[in-house]
Amino acid sequence: MKFYNKEPKSQNMSFELSQRLKALPPYLFKELDQVRDEVKARGVDIIDLGVGDPDRPTPAPVIEALQKAAADPANHRYPLYSGLNAFKDVVAGWYQKRHGVTLEPATEVCSLIGSKEGIAHFPLAFVNPGEVVLIPEPGYPVYNSGTLFAGGRPVFMPLLEKNGFRPDYQAVDEATAAQAKIIWVNYPNNPTGATATLDFYAGLVAWAKKWRIIVASDAAYSEMTYDGRPHPSILEVPGAKEVALEFHSVSKTYNMTGWRLGWAAGGADFIRGLGQIKNNVDSGVFQAVQVAGMAALNGDQEPVRAMGRLYQERREALVKGLAAAGLTVFPGTATFYVWVRLPAGLKSAEFSSRLLHEAGIVATPGNGFGPSGEGFARFALVQEVDRLNEAAARLAKLKF
Ligand SMILES: *Cc1c(COP(=O)(O)O)cnc(C)c1O
Repeated sequence: MKFYNKEPKSQNMSFELSQRLKALPPYLFKELDQVRDEVKARGVDIIDLGVGDPDRPTPAPVIEALQKAAADPANHRYPLYSGLNAFKDVVAGWYQKRHGVTLEPATEVCSLIGSKEGIAHFPLAFVNPGEVVLIPEPGYPVYNSGTLFAGGRPVFMPLLEKNGFRPDYQAVDEATAAQAKIIWVNYPNNPTGATATLDFYAGLVAWAKKWRIIVASDAAYSEMTYDGRPHPSILEVPGAKEVALEFHSVSKTYNMTGWRLGWAAGGADFIRGLGQIKNNVDSGVFQAVQVAGMAALNGDQEPVRAMGRLYQERREALVKGLAAAGLTVFPGTATFYVWVRLPAGLKSAEFSSRLLHEAGIVATPGNGFGPSGEGFARFALVQEVDRLNEAAARLAKLKF
């Protein structure tokens, strides 16, 4: 008797990846990673400004809160997938304090295993196969991969210098808008460092209501501003919760990328839908990590302001060299990225490769974030000022 419906294979096994994985764009930085490792192996002193991952440690009180919470057996069992009530209360309190926004913690907040997790899963809750998702480019690649995993159809909105690197959503044609389910925006922006205004969000919310489109706003960098004031939240727009939700995270604000803690906040329907996906996929965030996140959000915010001042200082150090090398630097007051335009005709990949070979500096080619990033490069301010001074000195000797 046969218990399986396939003939056993005698040859060596090989399994093809799914169509959905094969549909993802190639990882554009693979070659650059390889070249960096080769150059490093030759003994060159590399200054790596490639990856957007804070170099400084998490503030000590947050680590102490985790240590204490980790020892408490109450935190050793399965967490609630939607998050500790106490954590959601703290997030709601944070919105009230920072943005003057009132949220119902039980229904309008959900904890996430880092905001990337929520961004990737959200389309699964609302996008049917073939439905359109509007995605800014250059941009964070997860908006696209989450859309493709849900069977959605990505339609890209170029972020252009002449529009302040904000998407011209009015330019989306009516047929596309009618098929669209979600529009993604991200301010302060990775990779351009651009910011948005409350007016921009208000216009977007009004447009999204007209077309019945969910606005998913990625606010991972809202606290990473040089003046210590928060970047506006889309939820500050009156009535925004009808169409909008925001994805946020402790990762960049508190140097906690490794901890994996974020949240979604906004319209209750969106939070419920996302929660249903999560309930079927994961079991939430280790409670001790949520307790540590509460300590971060509730604690003294001076470390955050100090990081803002430090990023500004680092930026000023690097910009001197960039300008001397003949690159156009976009002014920035937020994020830890410096976005530069290359001289006409110079391709992003060639620039990054020359920079690595001739100066030992790693910068991310702009086209890695989308075709409109061609002719640009991104520098992440994740090295100390003396290293950035060194990078600037090396840059000043180059001419592009
Ligand atoms: C870093 C980053 C995130 C945050 O990721 P986490 O999963 O919260 O660590 C989200 N969006 C953008 C654009 C980012 O650059």
